[in-house]
Order: sequence, then C-alpha cells, then structure tokens
Amino acid sequence: MIELNKKEFKENIIEYLKLFYRKNIDEATNQQLFHAIAYSLKNTIIEQWMATHKTYEEKDVKTVYYLSMEFLMGRALGNNIINLKAEKVVREVLDELGIDLEDIEEEETDPALGNGGLGRLAACFLDSLSTLGYPAYGCGIRYKYGMFKQKIIDGYQVEVPDYWLEEGYPFEIKRPEYAKEVKFGGYVRMIRDEQGRDRFIQENYQSVKAVPYDIPIVGYGNNIVNTLRIWDAEAINTFNLESFDKGDYQKAVEQENLARIICEVLYPNDNHYAGKELRLKQQYFFVSASIQRAVSKYMEKHNNIKNLPEKVCFQLNDTHPTVAAAELMRILLDEYCLSWEEAWEITNKTCAYTNHTIMSEALEKWPIDLFSRLLPRIYQIVEEINRRFVMDIKKRYPGNESKIEKMAILYQGQVRMANLAIVASFSVNGVARLHTEILKNQELKDFYEMYPERFNNKTNGITQRRFLLHGNPLLADWVTKKIGDQWIVNLPHIDKLTAFSEDPISLREFMDIKYHNKKRLAKYIKEHNQIDIDTNSIFDIQVKRLHEYKRQLLNILHVMYLYNQLKKNPNMEFYPRTFIFGAKASAGYERAKSIIKLINSVGAVINEDTSIGNKIKVVFIENYRVSNGELLFAAADVSEQISTASKEASGTGNMKFMLNGAITIGTMDGANVEIVEEVGLENAFIFGLSSDEVINYEKNGGYNPQDIYHNDLGIKEVLDQLINGFYTPEKPNLFKNIYDSLLYSNGYEKADPYFILKDFRTYEAAQKRVAEAYLDKERWAKSALLNTAKCGKFSSDRTIEEYVQDIWHLEKIEPK
Ligand SMILES: *Cc1c(COP(=O)(O)O)cnc(C)c1O
Repeated sequence: MIELNKKEFKENIIEYLKLFYRKNIDEATNQQLFHAIAYSLKNTIIEQWMATHKTYEEKDVKTVYYLSMEFLMGRALGNNIINLKAEKVVREVLDELGIDLEDIEEEETDPALGNGGLGRLAACFLDSLSTLGYPAYGCGIRYKYGMFKQKIIDGYQVEVPDYWLEEGYPFEIKRPEYAKEVKFGGYVRMIRDEQGRDRFIQENYQSVKAVPYDIPIVGYGNNIVNTLRIWDAEAINTFNLESFDKGDYQKAVEQENLARIICEVLYPNDNHYAGKELRLKQQYFFVSASIQRAVSKYMEKHNNIKNLPEKVCFQLNDTHPTVAAAELMRILLDEYCLSWEEAWEITNKTCAYTNHTIMSEALEKWPIDLFSRLLPRIYQIVEEINRRFVMDIKKRYPGNESKIEKMAILYQGQVRMANLAIVASFSVNGVARLHTEILKNQELKDFYEMYPERFNNKTNGITQRRFLLHGNPLLADWVTKKIGDQWIVNLPHIDKLTAFSEDPISLREFMDIKYHNKKRLAKYIKEHNQIDIDTNSIFDIQVKRLHEYKRQLLNILHVMYLYNQLKKNPNMEFYPRTFIFGAKASAGYERAKSIIKLINSVGAVINEDTSIGNKIKVVFIENYRVSNGELLFAAADVSEQISTASKEASGTGNMKFMLNGAITIGTMDGANVEIVEEVGLENAFIFGLSSDEVINYEKNGGYNPQDIYHNDLGIKEVLDQLINGFYTPEKPNLFKNIYDSLLYSNGYEKADPYFILKDFRTYEAAQKRVAEAYLDKERWAKSALLNTAKCGKFSSDRTIEEYVQDIWHLEKIEPK
C-alpha cells in the first residue's frame, strides 16, 4: 500500500509554492495553495498509478474502454483525498499550516465536461471501476470549454463560457508519446497490392493530431488508479515548409483551424440531437484516437489481432461513439488486412452499446451526404455493414419491407446510429428495468426479436463515496458510528440502519443532521441569492437539467396554485415550504429558458409577499453542478422526480437524494420504480399516469387538455396567470408560449405533450400527502432514514459488477 507521507506532503506544499509562485505559505492565495496541495497529493497518486499499470502489464489483463462524449467529474481534490484515505493526514498538515481544507476545495472549478446524468454516470462508473479493482480507461474529449456557467440575470438564464483550464488543471498529464493521427474528408482510392488484395487508401484528406491527457481515477483505499484519457487536437504540420513548397498553403491553414475548433466546446444539449457537422467530427476524433491507441497497446503485447476480444471491450455510452464499430472495422480491414468476416466477428465481440433514451428527438441520424463527405472510408464500411444486415433481414423476413424500413442502418438518406450500434454490438443494455422493458417491447421490438440474446438491463447507480462520504460528512460519520464503515465499499450494508428506524434517539440524531445540512444550504442560498429561508420549512428540491419531460413546469404551476390558495385563505393549515430549483437549459432551447424565467418570476413575487407570512419561498440555484449538488442532496427533505412516465430512462439524481435521506415525490418512471420497490410505497409519494397509459395516449394521438382547463377552476386560474401579467405585469405576454404549449397543438407537437395538466391533480394530491406526512415528525424521520437504509441497490458498484459479470468479463485486481 502506497500511502501519503505526512512529512513529505507538508514539505512538498511549501516547496511547490516556492517553485510555482515564489511564495511562502503566509503569502500564498487560496488558489495557489490549491495547486500546491493538489500537486503534493499527486505525488502519491502517481506512485499508485504506476504500480497499478505495472500490475496490469504483468497480469496481461482484459481492459474495458468506456467511450463517452461526456465525463461530468466534479471537483477532484476532495474526492482524491477521500479515496486515498488521506483525510486525517491532510487535515493535520493543513491545520499545522493554518489552512482550511473546505476553503481550498472551493478554489477548484468543477471540470464540467458533461451535460447531466449521462456524463455523471460515466464519472460514477470510473470511481467504481477503480474501487472494485477492474482495469479500465475512460475515453473522452478534452473540451477547452466545458458546460457553460449559468448566470441568472433579471430572472433569465445567461450562458457564460466555462474556461476550466484557465488556471491549469493540476491532476492531468499530457502524454504526447501516444498521439494518433485522425483523418477527415478527401476520398478513398482502391489499389490492388502485390498479393492481389484490394486496399483502400484515403487521399487528399485533412487530419489532426490527437494528443491524450491522462487524469488519474483513484480507487477507494485499494492502491488502484485507473485512467481517464481525454484527447486534445493539435495541428499536424504547423505551417511546415513542405506544405508551402507544395503550394498546400490552403490545406495547412484549414488543418490548423480544424485542430483549433474540434475540441473547443461541449455541445450543451441533454437528450437532444442537433445534427451539427462539428459534433460528428468530435465523435470520430476521439473514437478514432481511442481505438487506434487501444489496438496499438494490445499489439505491443500480443501477436494475434484475432484475439482482441479476449483483452479489450469497448462500451459505447449512448450512440455518440457508435462510429467506433466502423473505425475498428477499418483498422482490421485496412491496416491488418483481415477478411470482412474475420473483422466483423472481432468487432461484434468487442463492442457493446448502452441505450440512454427512447425520445425521438435524441436519436442520432446523420444525413448520408454529410457523413460520407466527412468520413468517406467509414461510410463505405457502414454501407457494407448495412448491405449485409439488410440481406439478413430479408432472409429472416422474406418480403417484409416494413422490417427493412424500421431496422436498416441506412434509410431515406440518413445513417441511423442506434441501428448501427445494435447491429455491431454483442450487448445492448437499457439503464433501468422499466426502460429496458420498453426497449424490448416497444422502441426496439424488431431488434429484440432478431437478437434477443443481446438485450440486457443494467440499472444505473451512483457512487456513495462522492454523494455521501464527501458530500454529507455529518451523515457519513453517523452511519459509520452506527453500523461501521463497510457501506463505503459495500452499500447494501447500509441496510443495517433499518434496525434504528424505530429508535427515537437515532431518529432525532438523523433529523438533526438533516437540519445541519439545511442550515449549510440556507447559508449558501443567503450568500448566492440573498434570500432568507426558513430552515424549519420543508426543503422540496428539484435539480436536474431543464427539460419539458422532466416537468419543472408541473412543479412551478403547483407552486402558483398553492400561492393562489394561500392568498384566498391566509389562515389555512399550511406547513412552510421552500421550493428549490436548479437547472441549466440548453442554450438553444427557448421553451426551457422560458420556464426558468417563469420560476424566477414566480419566486420574485411570492418571496416578497409578506401577506402569506413566509410560508412559501421559491429559490432558483444558479449554475447547478456537481459541487453545489452535493450540498443540495444532503439538505433535501423532498426529492422531486416527476418526469412524464416512460420518458426518464433511469435518472440518477433520484438515487443521490434517496441516499441522503430525502423522500421521493415521483412518477412510476425510470429507476423510481425500483426505488419504490426497495423502500416501500409507504415511504414515497407516487402519483400520475403509468408509462403504459402515457404510451397508449401517445399511440392514440394524445389527449385533450382543453377539457381539464375548462372544468378545473384551480388549474384555469393558474394557466390564465401565464397570460394576464400576474407575475410579469410589464410583459403580460412573456409566458404565452408556455400557455399555448399546454393547450394547443401545432404542426410539430400535440397539446400538452408531457401530460402536465393530466397529472396535475394527482400531483397536487401527492403534495398534500407530503405536507400531512411532515407533520408527524417521527414518522417522517423513519421514512427518511429508511430511504437511506434501503438504497443499497443504487450504488454504481453494483451496476459495475453487473457490467463485469454479463458484458465485460474482467478480472478483479486485488489490492496490494
Ligand atoms: C446526478 C446529476 C444529474 C442527473 O440528474 P437527474 O435528476 O437524474 O436528471 C445532472 N446534473 C448533475 C450535476 C448531477 O450531479
């Protein structure tokens, strides 16, 4: 076991401050201290990292490459200290130096190379892979600008670029020795080689140099460090004389520009396909570099490419990296001269695909002309994959054109990436039981019929190391005091807390911790929002990306409804409630941005209205991200998970809240179904249409929200307030787009496509049950505690063990 040495750690901090900044401890800024501390910690991490890779080489391990456009890592310093089990030593040293660790952690900007759930899942998986001792690389893009920073100005979202590398990132190291060339455009020339084989040569292309940066992923107390490898693009011949001599000035400049632009920015779309050419360039860029490197690494130690599947697995996080299958085919065909059949067998045993959504607007479909122009050789290979697949369909379903229409990879001028991913992979998994069932029985029914053995479920999970041990130290210590610390690496152990669910003293302690965490959040809100909130009120929190299917609108309409009730009847029984929202909207998603403005407008009126005696507050947390998320999950009484049933594939925010003892108000969607199964219906507030009901309505052209509007006066009043200037008298038309979306269909969508009015009254009733339940303090405490106790299933450790068992077949490396 390589451990952090106290004396060296302290000396290194002092040394690095001098070396980097010419400063003594007492002169250094917190930012400078952060860097010196991070580098000092990195010394120990590097030792473990090198030892891990030595072990991997000696054992000739099989490795999973988790290919993902996004890794939403959050801050590394605190997490690394925890996983090195170095907190005690670090705190002692910082105490001696007069430094506060929490202040230093605040100096780190979250590496936000992801949008939301999908990117955070990748980050949780890496934590679990290292902690469980499985050889893995995360492969992604080193975006210069990550997810934008959200400012709220006059109630509107304003996007500010997130230049996360401004101060340098202490944990990464550049690995120029592993650079790879990635080619775009040009054309493919076929030649016949000496052996009489057809060879395909890409010519007149532009290319960039992909250069990897490695970030260590520290396992919890086990000496194992895996790698997150993010690729940067550099120009390949920086204006070399050769180019000028050949008169290739134009090309040299274009390549230079391509390199500059390709890793510039993360697309801020969550669950939405935008179809931009640059996005496809990003996809091929990091996939090609990752696969080339994985194959090179394999061939350094092995002589037979045909055994690649024994040592390598590529997991495709959604369809974004699906070109991986064609890229691997290209390498096997063009560089290793395998036959199509040989190459296909290897590819099909090496690629596995995770589906994350069934929403049609998220399905990636590239226009063939764009795709073939940008990736001419890859397109040829996709064409051949498609040709052979269509033959298979015809053999199996003679004369059934509709099967081809639904399943072909190339159809009506488009490359359908999900279809390619399914055909090229040996495994297709959904991310929660309900989601996988919908895939098998509805969305991907035809594929399931053709390849039933490929389909499997892997219910998502989260890492308890970040979302309890780091994010909620008070509760973490209490849990450890009660049941020992096994839960840190074996979350089902937390079920032992059940024994305390009837013990009044334990329940009081549990709720005291919740109260402290509410105070911590209230302080944050006071500092950031200048709003005083009542720490005795119910903290009701909905934080996640802003999306119509996630129905923040249902939540805020209900707040408007409650406010109307209170105004009419100020003396009604009403337990104080703080409604907290946090959400970024994609920069181009106008309706989502309107909903943010609505939440802030409602808050501005209600928070200032003294006539309701501070019984309702509405808070919008600016720039929701992993770091402030940790504060929010710890402080929540109520977790809002109210997506339209069938739309949220899994959700993982739901699990973070549950772990921290918040009670879910939610629909039977995604992993909520499994959460309720674990904790019991009596310890959650479930409402709304079922996924079957939603799917049925959709098949039959939707429903008619006008009936509800005209027959339910409470709802009508709320909706009318969207267009009568009640919240924005200066601009009464501001929310007409939202009003219209709820009541009228247009050329593109049905009226109220997310069933907000349909579910309103059952939501309202569920919220009433929340309010009543909170009055019984002990009963509530018991429910909250049981949520923590019953969340064992939702550790990403469990998810990763299932991937290893069913898909990756990796060998566990025991700690040294
Ligand atoms: C967990 C997480 C998400 C995903 O939340 P859902 O409620 O599952 O959509 C999004 N963003 C951040 C910062 C997260 O930590």
